[in-house]
Amino acid sequence: MKYGGKYYNYLLVCPRKLWLYAGGLGMEHASERVAEGTLLHETSYPSRSIRYEELEVGSVKIDFYDARERVIHEVKMSDRMEEAHVWQVRYYQSVLERIGVEGVTAVLEYPALRHTERLGALTDEDRGKLEAMEKEIDRIVQADVCPAVPAGRKGICRKCSYFDFCFVGEMSDDGREHEL
Ligand code: SF4
Repeated sequence: MKYGGKYYNYLLVCPRKLWLYAGGLGMEHASERVAEGTLLHETSYPSRSIRYEELEVGSVKIDFYDARERVIHEVKMSDRMEEAHVWQVRYYQSVLERIGVEGVTAVLEYPALRHTERLGALTDEDRGKLEAMEKEIDRIVQADVCPAVPAGRKGICRKCSYFDFCFVGEMSDDGREHEL
């Protein structure tokens, strides 16, 4: 597979984040939010590893797959970027389809919100959108120059592992962030 699932997620979150991530500028090891997400995976469903399996297909890693029911389970902390989560999972469905597993469905799970979102099997429309997304990912990751910070401050930036990288120039001399 050409890309991992995060590429599809980040495409919808922020093109700059996608470009930085694709370039190997990973900051996620230093991100408290990523650490919180890892903890969530490990603690939300203690019995999960017995019921579901971890699946790796090329560069794609699906944390929880129910092979018997053909259901992908994707656990997220917040539903704020739900569209990005949906297309990350849609991509996983297409990856399984490419290796001959048809009719896979998915469940997005937000345990902290006690909310789940069910996704049916892929449609032709979904496949078309994924193709278009791959072209857009190609365009962004192959660009020589990092995309600019999107216009207007997005609340999502505060939770992003690249926040310091993108906004270091906006700190005061005393190290505090300027008013937003
Ligand atoms: S901090 Fe904001 S602008 Fe920078 S990569 Fe993250 S989401 Fe994009």
